[in-house]
Amino acid sequence: MKEIVIVSGKGGVGKSTITASFGVLFSKKYKVVLADTDVDAPNLALFFDVAEKNSYDISTSEKAYIAYGKCTGCLRCVEVCRFSSMVALHKKPVVIAYTCEGCGACMVVCPEKAIEIKRVENGRITVYGTDHIIIVSGALHIGESNSGGIVDEVKKIAKQEAKKLNVDFIITDGPPGIGCPVISSVKGSDYVIAVTEPTPAALRDLKRLIAVVKNFRIPAGIVINKSEIDQKSGREIKGFAEKNEITVISAIPYDLRIPEAIAKAMPVVDAYPDAPSSQAIRRLVDTVWTLVQSGAIEPAVAKKDKKG
Ligand code: SF4
Ligand code: SF4
Repeated sequence: MKEIVIVSGKGGVGKSTITASFGVLFSKKYKVVLADTDVDAPNLALFFDVAEKNSYDISTSEKAYIAYGKCTGCLRCVEVCRFSSMVALHKKPVVIAYTCEGCGACMVVCPEKAIEIKRVENGRITVYGTDHIIIVSGALHIGESNSGGIVDEVKKIAKQEAKKLNVDFIITDGPPGIGCPVISSVKGSDYVIAVTEPTPAALRDLKRLIAVVKNFRIPAGIVINKSEIDQKSGREIKGFAEKNEITVISAIPYDLRIPEAIAKAMPVVDAYPDAPSSQAIRRLVDTVWTLVQSGAIEPAVAKKDKKG
């Protein structure tokens, strides 16, 4: 089983649109499980006519709780908190749950053992499915933290589903940016597709994203979406790719059929199979198939074996 993760340095460049179409086309040749690890804004399942199979809350975050019956009001916990999450109110400590990181420093210094660190529900996992496709999606609860922990859980469940169904590929719609959920999404994967667009802002964010991916030594390819909107930025992206020995594996043209397909909540390759963007995404999938067949995308297990 191999994992391909599709990420972007910034939001709004068309990552989920491309992932939905990529998943549809890929599933025509290989068995796939789709994973949505864009836990702040999961929307991959919206593109598919899928029913909810299973949904449950998860706890990957911890917070401090005070037993006021034991508290003497010494306020050592307030002094030690580096996140300003423990504040004094009327000479008693109060936890600001919104910012508490659950680090436990307050618990350690409390002489009365009045503080406990407890797990809190901070997200929800939903598994959608039809006879043809399984989608595992994670959503962070509003205002909650530890999105990376939820991504880990989505990946774990996606792997379980993939093993159960003897699936060849997990294709993940990762989050935008370079933070904790992106790191959790790309780690352990076999190939990263970085989606960008030819604008200075997207290029700057792409550079930061590729720096993160390089740390994990995972092979990567770049997809330029809306490829002709600015030729100068397009040339700069290609120059950056060349300098970093990363292949630009696809250039998808700006195509009004894409927003029209989004309005219909359908992957563009299903809604408008002959549209220029659909044709480009089909070529992208062919390219990735070729990479798979040539051994350029190899399972993580094989890579470990080679290292000996
Ligand atoms: S350190 Fe313990 S006893 Fe002191 S104020 Fe905080 S909770 Fe109360
Ligand atoms: S657990 Fe850490 S972040 Fe939360 S209140 Fe205690 S010291 Fe502050």
